[in-house]
Amino acid sequence: MEEIVSKNKCTGCTACMNVCPKNAISMVTDKCGFKYPIIDEKKCIDCGLCKKTCPILNKKNNLSINKCYAAYSKNDEYSIHSSSGGIFPIIANYILDNNGIVIGAAFDKKMNLNHVAITKKKEIDKLRGSKYLQSDLGDIFKYVKENLKTKKILFVGTPCQIAGLKAYIKNDYDNLICIDLICHGVPSPKLFQKYLKELEEKSNYKVIDYIFRDKVTGWSNYSNTIVFENEKKSQIYKQNDYMNLFLSNISLRDSCGNCNFKLGNKYSDITLGDFWGISKYYPEMSSKNGVSSIIINNDKGLLLFDKIKNELLFCDCKIEEIISGNPSLIKSSKTDKNREDFFNEMSEKNIHYLAHKYKKKESLSFYLKKIIKKIIGR
Ligand SMILES: Cc1cc2nc3c(=O)[nH]c(=O)nc-3n(C[C@H](O)[C@H](O)[C@H](O)COP(=O)(O)OP(=O)(O)OC[C@H]3O[C@@H](n4cnc5c(N)ncnc54)[C@H](O)[C@@H]3O)c2cc1C
Ligand code: SF4
Ligand code: SF4
Repeated sequence: MEEIVSKNKCTGCTACMNVCPKNAISMVTDKCGFKYPIIDEKKCIDCGLCKKTCPILNKKNNLSINKCYAAYSKNDEYSIHSSSGGIFPIIANYILDNNGIVIGAAFDKKMNLNHVAITKKKEIDKLRGSKYLQSDLGDIFKYVKENLKTKKILFVGTPCQIAGLKAYIKNDYDNLICIDLICHGVPSPKLFQKYLKELEEKSNYKVIDYIFRDKVTGWSNYSNTIVFENEKKSQIYKQNDYMNLFLSNISLRDSCGNCNFKLGNKYSDITLGDFWGISKYYPEMSSKNGVSSIIINNDKGLLLFDKIKNELLFCDCKIEEIISGNPSLIKSSKTDKNREDFFNEMSEKNIHYLAHKYKKKESLSFYLKKIIKKIIGR
């Protein structure tokens, strides 16, 4: 079967599926739980549009950083219930106030993560918060293209999702604002479903929501909160099996190991992330509820920042300061050499076993450094 791009590079962005004039491409889930395009040879007319559109095969150099800021929302409620400094809900509110549409990732009733469109402020909450698994784009790109004829749209996603959207819609629309996230990578949705199933079997109750970045234990030492039908349970992320599999990179999509959309090849107007290490550079900006890094990539992003800046506490910063605590902005997460073995075992073994076997093991030098720091009291 012909591939549009090699499997280890394909991000599953759906641009090829959406652009095909014969509907010959469908996105099919592989054994690891990620979707890839499959071409129906009987329908394909060899027009080559999929290859001409794929953002991996048609790279542009988009090196433009206009400005960078450290920032958080003046409204505590926004930062407490968002993952970083609560910048997304401020921008979403602004777009909805201007009769626009906001698109981001939300769980459905079966706890599958999909990109959905909202038009009402009361729906913002379901988009808020980072969800550490790949979101299904479905046919949202077609919806965007259709609605850009009349509406302002804010689209939030991973850098590869924004690249896919831009590749599909082609023209640069003034009424489309794209925000991407500093991205460590996306874990397998199949692994997340397996994890939820095990939680439900253990408790005998359904999981109805999952908060990956609950700040009950703080911003940097965040917790995962599992919302069952009958109760909520929080666990510090370092003790959570699913999070250990995410942070060890073993459960990430293959393309995240050689991501094409790091700094220097961004398609968004604004990039949002955490500002890890804020107290080192701007101690006066530290906040227990979370601090964001905001990278403005072009004039459209700058214009938007101008509209919302009164709702923020912020200061100018340097891009190197953001990068120093956040290497994911410039380099891909290293693919674990045991990734293949992990996915072969995924269906048979439970999450706790998998986490124990495959989570990142700290090196001897890590422990030695820790002991030395303790001895010299730093
Ligand atoms: C998979 C993933 C990996 C990330 N890795 C890093 C990292 O390494 N370093 C870093 O600094 N920041 C990372 N982030 C970004 C960070 O966690 C926050 O999402 C970001 O700073 C915005 O925070 P906020 O408080 O402004 O908004 P929030 O209210 O937290 O809004 C988050 C936004 O992200 C969207 N979103 C949530 N989950 C997904 C998803 N799976 N796919 C696409 N869009 C999604 C939501 O729709 C919402 O618009 C990552 C986010 C995700 C989803
Ligand atoms: S367009 Fe997107 S989904 Fe299609 S092959 Fe390229 S990266 Fe993969
Ligand atoms: S790391 Fe790169 S390829 Fe992976 S989800 Fe993020 S943007 Fe996409």
